[in-house]
Amino acid sequence: MNVNDTEIASSILEQHDYEIVNDIDDANIVFLMTCAIRENAENKVWAKLYDLDKAKRMGQLRKYGLLGCMAERLKAKIVEQLPSIDVVAGPDSYRHLPKLLAINSLHGQSAINVLLSLDETYADIIPRNQSKHSAFVSITRGCNNMCSYCIVPFTRGRERSRSIDSILKEVENKIDSGVKEIILLGQNVNSYRDYSVHNLSNDEDKNQTLNELQSPLADGFQTLYRSKPGGAGFDQLLRQVAGLDPNVRIRFTSPHPKDFNDSVLRVIADHPNIAKGLHLPVQSGSNFVLERMRRGYTRDAYLQLVKRIRHYIPNCGLSSDFICGFCDETDDDHRQTVDIIQNVGYYIAYIFAYSMRDKTYAYHHLNDNVPQSIKIQRLIELNQVYRQLSTEMNRQLIGQRQLILVEGVSKKSPQQLYGRNEANQKVIIPKLSNVNYMIGDFLDVEIIDFTPVTLMARPIRRTSITEFYTSKQ
Ligand code: SAH
Ligand code: SF4
Repeated sequence: MNVNDTEIASSILEQHDYEIVNDIDDANIVFLMTCAIRENAENKVWAKLYDLDKAKRMGQLRKYGLLGCMAERLKAKIVEQLPSIDVVAGPDSYRHLPKLLAINSLHGQSAINVLLSLDETYADIIPRNQSKHSAFVSITRGCNNMCSYCIVPFTRGRERSRSIDSILKEVENKIDSGVKEIILLGQNVNSYRDYSVHNLSNDEDKNQTLNELQSPLADGFQTLYRSKPGGAGFDQLLRQVAGLDPNVRIRFTSPHPKDFNDSVLRVIADHPNIAKGLHLPVQSGSNFVLERMRRGYTRDAYLQLVKRIRHYIPNCGLSSDFICGFCDETDDDHRQTVDIIQNVGYYIAYIFAYSMRDKTYAYHHLNDNVPQSIKIQRLIELNQVYRQLSTEMNRQLIGQRQLILVEGVSKKSPQQLYGRNEANQKVIIPKLSNVNYMIGDFLDVEIIDFTPVTLMARPIRRTSITEFYTSKQ
């Protein structure tokens, strides 16, 4: 999300004749794009802000500013602590950056805009692409879910979707410029709904059951916010985006389990170019904790959804987010999270110690009463259990042929490249082999080795998505 916001803000600045440079030493204005979701991310940003403040005082930097969620959350506090800051702009204010810079130059004071908007989606801004081969396309902004621990609805505002037409246009542009992978983005990407579309456009859509149209939620899931019926949902958007070019891979993040209705699952199953890896954040395996988190599902509803995913998309790799040490979480609750990891088996897991964020329901009504040492102990245990299982799952992949998109040079060795498979796992390949390939190519590979989080592979041939799947049949 932050990468895409940076691409949007950069594009707006470029349109106003600012030049984006790659090296901080060449810049005379530096902006920090920030996230406020967890406390330790914020602490790192504070340290960087003080560095920038020092650089400005020493005459090494003309201006600096803070963008994104942390700007939204801390507003006045930032200016109080750092009176020399030039610009503070929240996630819905990037369009105003040139004006804020101009006001700051005119008055020599910090210029601030952190107003949240009900309709800003930056639909008309073409983000300044950071990667030539993979492009983020933002389709929704904000979130209405109000999970009790989460600050996102307060820092990024109400949920809103871009129109299907503007999304398709942007994706087409990216494909024309040679992009091989499109990643659809949103805080709650699969609750996408374009209300400007009234008529279902093709026969397949007309075959949707009335039930799916009236209640787009997955079975057994609830939400505090009832979305209006009608319009075009994520299933229709996904089908249209995937239909643009069968040789461009489609991913999306970050989804919420409640919005994986059967229709969305069928679209994913039907399109070889939609990656068969789903992020299914569970947060906790305990019903008591899930209820206090206000996630809108029980452990059983989640497990039923996993079953339905495996029914429609048999080889789908799953990943998840977990929070440990949420308010009142007992050892038994924690055991149930361990159990759900063992039960489901995730290729990738993001595990966080709970950090209390102000404004949230938990901040006002619950007690952050699990000691930090226990949070960390539980985090370590979840990580161990996840890794044990992912190691076993990766072992089963040895000898399997997989399709990867080669994305870049491995951080560990310049002699190696890496790509990602359908499940979004990192796959390491040698830079030189008897197959000719480069970054941006799809490769047919054979998995030959593994660690808990990475796979190693032998390149077999350059290929395309359609070629790979036709030859597999
Ligand atoms: N919309 C996505 C998540 C986006 S936030 C979803 O609902 O699944 C990414 C992750 O940050 C969350 O899934 C959660 O695991 C974590 N997170 C959010 N607030 C947190 C907090 N206060 N403390 C610790 N982790 C948190
Ligand atoms: Fe936060 Fe995700 Fe819940 Fe929205 S759905 S409130 S972003 S955790």
